[in-house]
Amino acid sequence: MQAKKVAVVGGGLGGLTAAALLARGGCEVTVYERSKHLGGRARTTEVDGFRFNLGPHALYRAGAAFRVLERLGVRPTGGVPNQTGSHALVAGRLHTLPRGAVTLMTTDVLSVASKLEVAKLLAGLARIDTRPLGAMSMREWLETRLTRKDGRALVGALIRVSSYCADFEALSAEAGLKQLQCATAANVLYVDGGWSTLVDAVERLCREAGARLELSARVEAVVLQEGGKRVEGVRLADGTVHGADAVVMAGSPADVAALVPGDAVLAREAREAVPIQAATLELGLSALPRPDALFALGLDGPWYASVHSASAKLAPEGGAMVHVAKYLGGADTEASEASLDAVMDALQPGWREKVVARRFRPSLTVSAGLPRATNGGLSGRPSVEVPHVSGLYRVGDWVGAEGMLADASLASAEAVERALAQRAKEPQRRTAGA
Ligand SMILES: Cc1cc2nc3c(=O)[nH]c(=O)nc-3n(C[C@H](O)[C@H](O)[C@H](O)COP(=O)(O)OP(=O)(O)OC[C@H]3O[C@@H](n4cnc5c(N)ncnc54)[C@H](O)[C@@H]3O)c2cc1C
Repeated sequence: MQAKKVAVVGGGLGGLTAAALLARGGCEVTVYERSKHLGGRARTTEVDGFRFNLGPHALYRAGAAFRVLERLGVRPTGGVPNQTGSHALVAGRLHTLPRGAVTLMTTDVLSVASKLEVAKLLAGLARIDTRPLGAMSMREWLETRLTRKDGRALVGALIRVSSYCADFEALSAEAGLKQLQCATAANVLYVDGGWSTLVDAVERLCREAGARLELSARVEAVVLQEGGKRVEGVRLADGTVHGADAVVMAGSPADVAALVPGDAVLAREAREAVPIQAATLELGLSALPRPDALFALGLDGPWYASVHSASAKLAPEGGAMVHVAKYLGGADTEASEASLDAVMDALQPGWREKVVARRFRPSLTVSAGLPRATNGGLSGRPSVEVPHVSGLYRVGDWVGAEGMLADASLASAEAVERALAQRAKEPQRRTAGA
């Protein structure tokens, strides 16, 4: 790649990955991160020896993030969640969670007719062609494909846990089903030490490749030339201006719109973005009251609880690190701490006496923008290139046509690398043709 001066605005996992890929390709890269820490939402906090991700984080082994990290030489260690110990949660009580042929037949959460319908659907899941489903809502697809409420509740819960999204009216069926296909193809990895180990690894690669990482450096605006048609650099909150041939904006749609004030297209995208949100409770327990109960998935409500330390190193010896969450969506914009405690009462009765550390968040942004059916699904998300400004790019879990969550962030980082490589070739082509 032709050496280019690139400013990356945002030092989350997406921005850092873009920086590592571009710096390795020969660009002169500077990352500007407004907070004191790198990592954004992929940060992990240590509390009394427990490693708390910002809500439950799972890396899809068949997803783009895994692929791009592997390309960079980052091989995360950890464990795949154990299927034994998994339960369905209905009316505050645990039931067998259908996860395969045997549990599907023995569970009491489905009627006999639904068992057959769901079994048929799941058996053919990998072969569903999701491409024509971009403009169909997840709700509509579920109602078309499953005739009974109990079957829709189960398959809906599986889509929710794969996509984090509870807003089935907004979510494109293409995106929801692709997530479920991705999750079932190769399961997920709970990462040893938490996701900050991924951030640290990519940060190291950035530094080795010569990228500069500036912390507490808020970019106030992208500086443009030629009447706003071409990038010239970035202006920081301290007033300094730094020249760049390309700027990669790696924050939320609102962050991006704020960097180019007066840009009607970016402002509209920010207004229209529908975030995925969740309420989260992290728990560090001295021991598990019920070591055989490791996972609960709500079927009659958007609940999730999982003992992440059963598969990854996230707790001190003998202790347990548990993530509890409520998927939010639509009018449901936050949850009470008591409602998440109640999920734990069902999964691990007696847990309250074992609490060493806890952290509750009533509402977190899981993804800055879900792939909406009204926009045609994944291909309707904003592109990596800002089409009307030469040299301006964006990266994030709301950008590009591939994946959701961190998969979209890292896929868009890779797409920026491709776009810049392509751009580097263009003048040569023009010269050759002249
Ligand atoms: C509760 C929860 C659970 C999740 N679970 C999963 C999961 O299981 N699997 C999965 O794949 N993903 C999951 N995610 C999503 C995943 O964490 C994100 O998709 C990913 O971390 C996004 O990275 P990013 O770099 O694109 O954005 P961010 O992490 O949001 O980083 C953006 C960065 O840009 C900085 N910034 C913005 N504007 C400026 C500016 N003007 N100047 C300087 N800096 C700026 C911000 O400070 C921030 O650090 C989860 C997220 C949450 C919250």
